[in-house]
Amino acid sequence: MNLELTETQTLIRDTARKFARERVAPQARAMDREERFPTELFRELAELGLLGVNLPSKYGGAEAGVVAYALAMMEMAAADASVSVAMAVTNMCAELIHAFGTDAQREKYVTRLTLGEAVVGSFALSEPHAGSDPGALLTSAVKRGDRYVLNGSKQWITSGAHAGVMVVWARTSGTGNKGLSCFIVEGGTKGLHIGRHEDKMGLRASNTVALTFEDCEVPAENLLGKEGDGFKLAMTALDGGRIGIAAQACGVARAAMEATVSYTKDRKAFGEAVAEFQAPRFMMADMKTQLSAAELLTLRAAYLKEQKQPFTREASMAKLFASETSNRVCDKAVQLHGGYGYIDEFPVERYFRDARVQTIYEGTSEVQRLVIARETFRLIG
Ligand SMILES: Cc1cc2nc3c(=O)[nH]c(=O)nc-3n(C[C@H](O)[C@H](O)[C@H](O)COP(=O)(O)OP(=O)(O)OC[C@H]3O[C@@H](n4cnc5c(N)ncnc54)[C@H](O)[C@@H]3O)c2cc1C
Repeated sequence: MNLELTETQTLIRDTARKFARERVAPQARAMDREERFPTELFRELAELGLLGVNLPSKYGGAEAGVVAYALAMMEMAAADASVSVAMAVTNMCAELIHAFGTDAQREKYVTRLTLGEAVVGSFALSEPHAGSDPGALLTSAVKRGDRYVLNGSKQWITSGAHAGVMVVWARTSGTGNKGLSCFIVEGGTKGLHIGRHEDKMGLRASNTVALTFEDCEVPAENLLGKEGDGFKLAMTALDGGRIGIAAQACGVARAAMEATVSYTKDRKAFGEAVAEFQAPRFMMADMKTQLSAAELLTLRAAYLKEQKQPFTREASMAKLFASETSNRVCDKAVQLHGGYGYIDEFPVERYFRDARVQTIYEGTSEVQRLVIARETFRLIG
C-alpha cells in the first residue's frame, strides 16, 4: 500500500479538516449538551462532496475513492463523532443504491443523497429483537400490484427523523437470512412513523430513533436489487460501513490524544508538568502506537476496497481494532486529565462517551471476531 497521498486524497482530507475545525468543532460541545442534530451543516457537507466521496461525479459524488473517504471521516470524527456518523451512513446508503440500483434509482436517489437534497440517509436494518442477527428480523413486505406494503418496527436508526431517503430491510419470504429484501423508502411516506428519540450515553447530537411501518406502501420499483437479495446487500453495505466506523474511531482517538498532550504539558503536579512524569509518557507512547496501527489497518481496508480486492476481513479487523483502541485511548485521556477529565469543561469526557458505541454498532466486536475467524479459516483452509 502506498502511504503517499494522491493530490485528490490530500484535497479531500484538507477540505474535510478545514470544515470540521471551522464549522463543526466550535459547536460540538453545545450540540452534545442540547442533543441538537445540525441539519444545516449537511447542505454544506454536500457542497464539499463529502456525502458521496466515493461516488461518480455523474451522481453528484466527489469521485475521490475510499481512502479519501476514510481520511475525511477521520477529520470529521475528530471534530464531532455525531456529525461523522450521519455523514458515514449517508455515504453508505448512496453507495449501496449506486452499487445495486437501477439507472432510474441511481438518478433519483443517489443524487438526492450526495447533493444533500435528502439532508441525510438512513440505514434501517436493526429491529428490537434483531441486531447482531438480521436473519431474525420480522418487518414484512408483501407485494400488492405495483406496490409493496411494509409492516413492522425498526430500532436504533441513525438520523431516522431527518432522512429524506432510507434503505429499509424487510422479509418478502422464507426464514432466516433467506427471503430478506431491501427497499428505498422516502422520508415522510404515509405509514412510516418516527418513534422516540433515544436518550443516549454519547453521540448525543446524532438522532437515533425507532421507526414503525404501518401498511406503508412503497412503489415496487423501489425494491433495491432482487427479492431475496437483502442479506447480501446488507453484508456488502456493512463491509464498507465498517471502514467508516473504523475511521470514525481513529478520529475520536486522535482528538482525545491531542487534547491530552496539550493538557498534560500545561497541568502541573508536584511542581512539574504532568507530561514530564514517566507514567503519563508511557501511556502516551501506547496511545500513539495503537492509534497509528488502527489508522494503518483502516487505510489498508480502504485501499483494498478501492482496488476492488476482497476486503471483508480487513474491514472487520480495522473496525475491531480501531474501535477498541479508541475506547482505550479515550479512557487514558480521561485518566490523564484527572478530575478535569470527568467534567464537561474539557472535551475528553465527550470523546469517552462517543467512543463507547463504536464497539457496538455496525457489528459488535464479537461479531467482527466471528467474521475475521470465518474468513481466516476460509482463506487459509
Ligand atoms: C447509537 C446507535 C446507532 C445505531 N444505528 C443503527 C442504524 O443506523 N441502523 C441499524 O440498522 N442499526 C443501528 N444500530 C444497531 C446496532 O447495529 C446494534 O445495536 C448492534 O448490531 C448490536 O445488536 P443488538 O443491540 O441487538 O445486540 P445483540 O445482538 O442482542 O447482542 C448482545 C450481545 O451479545 C453478543 N452476541 C450476539 N450474537 C453473538 C454471537 N453469535 N457470538 C458472540 N456474541 C454474540 C453481542 O456481541 C453483544 O455483546 C445502532 C445502535 C446504536 C446503539
